[in-house]
Amino acid sequence: MNLFDYVRPVSVAEAVAAASEPGAAYLAAGTNLVDLMKVGALRPSRLVDVTRLPGLDRIEMLADGGVRIGAMVRNADLARDQAFATAHPAVAEALLSGASPQLRNTATVGGNLMQRTRCAYFYDTASACNRREPGAGCEALAGENRTHAVLGWSEACIATNPSDFCVPLVAFDAVVEIEGPRGRRDVPLEHFHLLPGTTPARESVLVAGELITGLRLPPEAAGFRAHARYLKLRERTSFAFALVSAAAALRIEGGTIRSARLALGGVAAKPWRARASEALLLGATPNVEAFARAADAALADAMPSGDNAFKIELAKRVIKRAFLLAAAGTPKRMPALPASAFSSDTGVLSHA
Ligand code: SF4
Repeated sequence: MNLFDYVRPVSVAEAVAAASEPGAAYLAAGTNLVDLMKVGALRPSRLVDVTRLPGLDRIEMLADGGVRIGAMVRNADLARDQAFATAHPAVAEALLSGASPQLRNTATVGGNLMQRTRCAYFYDTASACNRREPGAGCEALAGENRTHAVLGWSEACIATNPSDFCVPLVAFDAVVEIEGPRGRRDVPLEHFHLLPGTTPARESVLVAGELITGLRLPPEAAGFRAHARYLKLRERTSFAFALVSAAAALRIEGGTIRSARLALGGVAAKPWRARASEALLLGATPNVEAFARAADAALADAMPSGDNAFKIELAKRVIKRAFLLAAAGTPKRMPALPASAFSSDTGVLSHA
């Protein structure tokens, strides 16, 4: 049995102090952390329960047109908040495409950013894993790796980030609000998760004791609401992580693309912003040829990390289709299977 302390602070300052001890971990809904503790992949010596901290469960529409989301807001509550989903439909679509209804009802916004890779070797303590045990090696390199990374990977780790929610957030320039032993700081989500390099065990910019207290989306994000989609390819239609996903958004005026956003999921250890693709689309007519050029640019640096070359072509197809869906217009209703390639815009299953 692994013994650990459990503490339930009543303020952010108390939580930060409690979590600054070596071996401490924050506990929110625990939908990933508790699983990892059960299999012995993580063994924190102290759990700091942040679920009852005051003021972290609010969705606030800001005066400048942006939105602030408290870290303890539940995924389902955010996705079903009408004002939020209307302004940020691709984010709501991504949220509703993740996990299961039961998990979405309890999992938190802050916890979503902190979820760990689903690489099977990371969960199996009998396997070598640099991310779990620095210097141990990477069993995935010569193992079962068809779902692993094709961008930004290293010989030390080829894992992917499993989040759906973070993909449109990166596309729309979300900012992470962090409180820590040295005070408050804001970090663009695009720079929050780290690529593996030679230190895959370090997954984010957080240092000991730092706590995510909220997220902000800037006012510009809502400007894409008329043409914004999230599309996710997975090995079964629900309750599965993305093989590849794309958040694609456009601002179209007079038949011309005035601004484009693109981020990918399932391809790297972090949500992958494709800025070169966005630049290519500026001034273009929204058609399949332009979207194909954008897709090629997004994957220009992609390399298989194992038996996964198919993901490069798959990602290009997902990008093209996500942009075609976005160009056609955000549907009035959430599709029957959010973010699924098998769902039509009208909520009727296209393969039923
Ligand atoms: Fe561990 Fe990363 Fe290798 Fe998976 S890919 S076994 S997480 S080091």
